[in-house]
Amino acid sequence: MLTVCNFHYIRTNFEKPYPSIFGVTPIEFDNQIKELKKIGEFISIDQLVNNIDEILVDTKNHLLITFDDGLKEQFELALPILEKNNIEALFFINSMNYIEKKVSMVHKIHLVRSEINPNTILSEVNKVCAIERNELTSDEMIKAVKHYRYDDQQSAHLKYLLNFKLPKKDLELVINSLFETYFNEEEVVNSLYMTNNQLNYLAQKQMLGNHTHSHLALGLLNEVQIESEIFKTKSFIQSFQKNTNLAISYPYGSEEACQDPVTEIAKQLGHKIGFSMERGTNDKTANKLLLKRYSSNDLPGGKNYIE
Ligand SMILES: [Zn+2]
Repeated sequence: MLTVCNFHYIRTNFEKPYPSIFGVTPIEFDNQIKELKKIGEFISIDQLVNNIDEILVDTKNHLLITFDDGLKEQFELALPILEKNNIEALFFINSMNYIEKKVSMVHKIHLVRSEINPNTILSEVNKVCAIERNELTSDEMIKAVKHYRYDDQQSAHLKYLLNFKLPKKDLELVINSLFETYFNEEEVVNSLYMTNNQLNYLAQKQMLGNHTHSHLALGLLNEVQIESEIFKTKSFIQSFQKNTNLAISYPYGSEEACQDPVTEIAKQLGHKIGFSMERGTNDKTANKLLLKRYSSNDLPGGKNYIE
């Protein structure tokens, strides 16, 4: 069987005015590697792609580390720890960050929410969106406070509004407008995402994977768009190294984001292995184009793990 542990942000300090970026520190990462070693054996990328069937039927637990979103901090802070332990991993990148030098919407949301006062965000919502959409009903206010029980009332209402109530298009308008005002996109691209040298280093080791061009939920797009999203990043990876062991991680990884015909198109475009974010360990019944992963929080050494 195969247990996959996925990471996003790796940084020494997560302190922000309005903390909305979560991840692990290098010390926590190092510690989690030690804990994971107790429950299984790490596999190489070569084993993953060429012996996947044997690994899945094996009753022994095989382990794999993955990283989503191509963040520079993954290369600079996590890779040295992996190399010290002789562990290979897959780093899934979005080619838009490098080709168009644009920041993914998912990261814009994290940055805006962690740096900008909730009142400012709320007044931007009022400016940009139709009034009836941005007021919570009393029922929704109760739900919001219940759902975000660790936040104060105002933050809970705002999070509920942004995450559950605002239509996606409106949310993007609000975030883009705030992002343009408060951030310099070029600076964020340069500090947040890997350099070409770093990408090349990983490509030579077959450790670069496809996270699609612009980090959209593929299952909600039409076939032509899905193909284009997957193909652009595949070509970008192959511009560094002819990689025949292509793996893909579907952005957001939910059932909706991975629904038909997403995995079929990924397969047709030459991907042998695909990862969702459905939690679980993979055994002989697994679909190789839709392997389950755990968030690092849920595995031994992680923040939510209960023995
Ligand atoms: Zn992602």
